[in-house]
Amino acid sequence: MPAAPAPLTRPAPPPPLWLRRRPDNGGRGENGGTEAGTRTRTRDRPADDRLLCAACGDWVTRQAWRIAVGDSHAHTCTNPAGITFDVGCFADAPGARAVGPATARHTWFAGYRWRIAVCAGCGAHLGWVFAGGGAPAAFHGLILDRLVAERPRGDGPA
Ligand SMILES: [Zn+2]
Repeated sequence: MPAAPAPLTRPAPPPPLWLRRRPDNGGRGENGGTEAGTRTRTRDRPADDRLLCAACGDWVTRQAWRIAVGDSHAHTCTNPAGITFDVGCFADAPGARAVGPATARHTWFAGYRWRIAVCAGCGAHLGWVFAGGGAPAAFHGLILDRLVAERPRGDGPA
């Protein structure tokens, strides 16, 4: 059994439902002005907060989607095989794909079941998807050294 994490508490930010932008969610525009609604799409987020798969460079998640679970974003977790991972909690990770069955065995977060999460681009193991715990209902626990920032901060051109 891994070291018991702190009791779960509410994460600071609410689940970012607003981030899951749906194109065309049924609000059909009335006559006229059909293009106006799409105008603000591209400038509402910083361009450089994306986190990419370290293996293939595909976009996985964003810095802005980091959340705290059990009072902390980052957790040091050791699996039953004795391998330790530095895991960061993210509200969503569109570039990670859950594979395999969900299980509660050896879970690092009490009340959550997990599935393996792999890169949707190259299949590299990126972490786990945890679900069923309450608040948040689900999150991604991603291995931090398997993600890279889109570009280095502060230094010259890459
Ligand atoms: Zn990848």
